Amino acid sequence: MPPNTAPVLVAGAGPTGLAAALLLARRGVAVRIVDKALLPTRHSKALAVNPRTQELLEDTGVTARMLAEGWTVLGLTLHRPSHDDVAVPLSPLLDTHRSLVSLPQARTEALLAEALHALGVEVERGVKLDALEQGDDGVSASLVHADGSIEQVRAPLLYGADGAHSTVRQALGLAFPGDELPEPWQLWDLRLATPLDPDRVHLMLLPDGFLFVLRVHGDLWRVMGNGAHPLDALPPGTVCGEVEWQSHFHIAHRVAERAGVGRVLLGGDAAHIHSPLGARGMNLGIEDAYVFADCAADALGGHLSRLASYAQLRHPVHRRVVRRIAALTRLMHGHPAALRELRDELVPRLMHFGPARRQFFRVAGGLDHPVRTRG
Ligand SMILES: Cc1cc2nc3c(=O)[nH]c(=O)nc-3n(C[C@H](O)[C@H](O)[C@H](O)COP(=O)(O)OP(=O)(O)OC[C@H]3O[C@@H](n4cnc5c(N)ncnc54)[C@H](O)[C@@H]3O)c2cc1C
Repeated sequence: MPPNTAPVLVAGAGPTGLAAALLLARRGVAVRIVDKALLPTRHSKALAVNPRTQELLEDTGVTARMLAEGWTVLGLTLHRPSHDDVAVPLSPLLDTHRSLVSLPQARTEALLAEALHALGVEVERGVKLDALEQGDDGVSASLVHADGSIEQVRAPLLYGADGAHSTVRQALGLAFPGDELPEPWQLWDLRLATPLDPDRVHLMLLPDGFLFVLRVHGDLWRVMGNGAHPLDALPPGTVCGEVEWQSHFHIAHRVAERAGVGRVLLGGDAAHIHSPLGARGMNLGIEDAYVFADCAADALGGHLSRLASYAQLRHPVHRRVVRRIAALTRLMHGHPAALRELRDELVPRLMHFGPARRQFFRVAGGLDHPVRTRG
């Protein structure tokens, strides 16, 4: 094989692409992973590493490092104006000894990249996948390097893990149907002095939406919510300090019409996006990567039908998970007013009701379906 070629080309070195490259490299499959960004992300983005991810990455040694660096979320507290709080335990989650672990996404990515480096694979940064074409026996791709040079490569398989605006998905001509909540949501990572329990995730039901509060580490907290002044909804006695990161985003729920075509497969945000409520985005992408590694290794071993099985296995999972998260988000959003009344009545009751609470935690834990690598 000429230098700089490998049987699998991964576009995108976010958590999905890194996990796919790592899991393939561990099986002895040569992999090339490129990312258009010159540097890895510095932002905390996804904070919750769920039990499913911990299980899937256990053998790589990354889980042990995540557990050592992050902190274990012990419970969820629901806050409502003029009502008592509802506090439920989270740890251990359901029928597993694992719980949610809070760790900034930048650290999760760094740990995955370090494990990949230990296997001799480096992320090629400043390299953008620009165009692709596939034939019966492989995929041809144009890679644009940071200095403007263009490299043509050919690989038997391409994994599009290039995020929500995926070039790969667009090159395949796949639609990304779904919808979007109209208003912007705001996010802060900021220092707080607060009476909130630092070991729990906090959800505050507000008249025009909700506020999500989770500690990143130390006295640095993530606060995310909608409305004009979300920080004003923090409980009395809270003092806001230095802001480390502030951003805003729109909540959309979309699933690509297929999880791949032929020798080009899609994973992570390239294939599905949804609200951060439920903490599934990064985790579902890592699950995609796990299934991809298994299918791709078999396909390279001669079982080409395994490529089609990836798309067949993952698409229904994407649809189900996004549907669930969208329903949960609409309920918590509480618009229109009739839904808000239902939310304010129903949600606290559900938190007390064993089977409903169990289902909620199964969703948050990524345990609402088995991870199948075969049809
Ligand atoms: C504020 C916020 C909070 C979140 N909270 C959570 C949470 O608690 N739990 C959770 O599970 N998820 C959460 N998410 C979602 C999570 O961050 C994403 O789902 C996750 O980053 C998706 O990973 P990915 O690898 O699929 O895509 P990305 O992380 O978007 O990575 C894609 C990579 O591809 C690269 N790229 C793009 N185009 C190209 C190209 N043409 N060629 C080469 N490289 C390319 C990009 O530079 C990028 O590095 C949150 C997201 C946000 C914004």
